[in-house]
Amino acid sequence: MKTIIEPFRIKVVEPLKMTTRAEREAALHRAGLNVFLVPAEDVLIDLLTDSGTGAMSSEQWAGIMRGDESYAGARSYYRFEDRLREVTGFEHVIPTHQGRASERILFELIGGPDKTIPNNNHFDTTRANIEHSGARAVDLVIDEGRDPKSRHPFKGNIDLDKLEALFKEVGAEHIPCVMVTVTNNSGGGQPVSLENLHAVRKFCDRHGTPFFLDACRFAENAYFIKQREPGQGHRSVAAIVREMFDLADGATISAKKDGLVNIGGVLLLRDEALYGAAQNLLILTEGFPTYGGLAGRDLEAMAQGFEEVLHEDYLHYRIRSTAYLGEKLLAQGIQIVEPPGGHAIYIDAAEFCPHIPKAQFPGQALVCALYLHGGIRGVEIGSVMFGEHAKMELVRLAIPRRVYTQSQIDYVIEAIGEVHARRDRIRGLRITAEPPVLRHFTARFAEV
Ligand SMILES: *Cc1c(COP(=O)(O)O)cnc(C)c1O
Repeated sequence: MKTIIEPFRIKVVEPLKMTTRAEREAALHRAGLNVFLVPAEDVLIDLLTDSGTGAMSSEQWAGIMRGDESYAGARSYYRFEDRLREVTGFEHVIPTHQGRASERILFELIGGPDKTIPNNNHFDTTRANIEHSGARAVDLVIDEGRDPKSRHPFKGNIDLDKLEALFKEVGAEHIPCVMVTVTNNSGGGQPVSLENLHAVRKFCDRHGTPFFLDACRFAENAYFIKQREPGQGHRSVAAIVREMFDLADGATISAKKDGLVNIGGVLLLRDEALYGAAQNLLILTEGFPTYGGLAGRDLEAMAQGFEEVLHEDYLHYRIRSTAYLGEKLLAQGIQIVEPPGGHAIYIDAAEFCPHIPKAQFPGQALVCALYLHGGIRGVEIGSVMFGEHAKMELVRLAIPRRVYTQSQIDYVIEAIGEVHARRDRIRGLRITAEPPVLRHFTARFAEV
């Protein structure tokens, strides 16, 4: 059957507030044409991010009640540790309040001045934590990963030739680890193949360099491997996940993605000495090693989430419904980053609004138009976010996990189609106020 039904039924509902166009105009005006400053209540379909925005299951909510809030040695911690050991095979499991806390601890230990850390594409918090330690963050994704129209099945792969060249340039002694992000969030949510991960492992063995995964979307990546990689179709996602983690010396995870929770993170390590040092830093800023800045109930919800995310009917629904949105937009003549990624669809705003020059922020203009027309909130990933360094003008529509139904996604498709039909009316923007760093969060705009 062609229809992808949601593999769950709804037990609790959260009403959405319907707004009129006049109300949205007023809200957007108050926000200085920046949807980050629009109250979430005034948004109908919120596709700003898939991070921490998912819906928990009845078993996760039951776990919230069962949470053991003991300071040390809580039952919920052991459930969490057992689950992570079972899913990833890692012996040393450190809970943190979210992914960036794992990154901060890791890079305080292995980063520092004269160090360089390669990745397919560093996520922004990963890059920021590396740079904060004094080290340099380098992106080495394959060329296809930078071409929006390339249909390469694994556009998240890291380029081994570029990696070799980097090792020659700076020397292995200055590279404390090679990282690979699965799926590649900053590169359109594109997957990395098992073959590529094996090649990185071999490369790292040759140089005596540790290999770390940024594993926020490990289950979505494994599902793509099962679907697309020759010889993998018959395996369980759980077996593929285990093979991915078996190749690595450590991993940072934001549980707000494939952990299916609203808050939480994990740091996984093999090295005994590094584990001890990480625990000491954890105690300094996060908490005792058996709660790591979280409540016992959060650990309980994570223990359950890391199990549910491996259900293949869930993953099928997840990946297919993201692809559904992407394919319907393409069918309406709207260019997206192809093929659709795991957690989000990226609209090519430069193609959508060819009449708006880069200097007038076509992505931001499109984000405003989608909000005004349909109450849909996406996010600009282009010249507002990256300034002169922007390679593309994109609008990302990230899909929260288990939150919106197909009819709500059909509404999004229809609304974007209507905006597209009258796209010549969208006007370029100029910035009227901006902060010195990370301006996309708080800048204000006016129409040109
Ligand atoms: C979200 C994310 C992070 C950071 O995690 P937080 O929980 O937001 O701190 C790191 N890497 C990737 C790839 C992510 O998607």
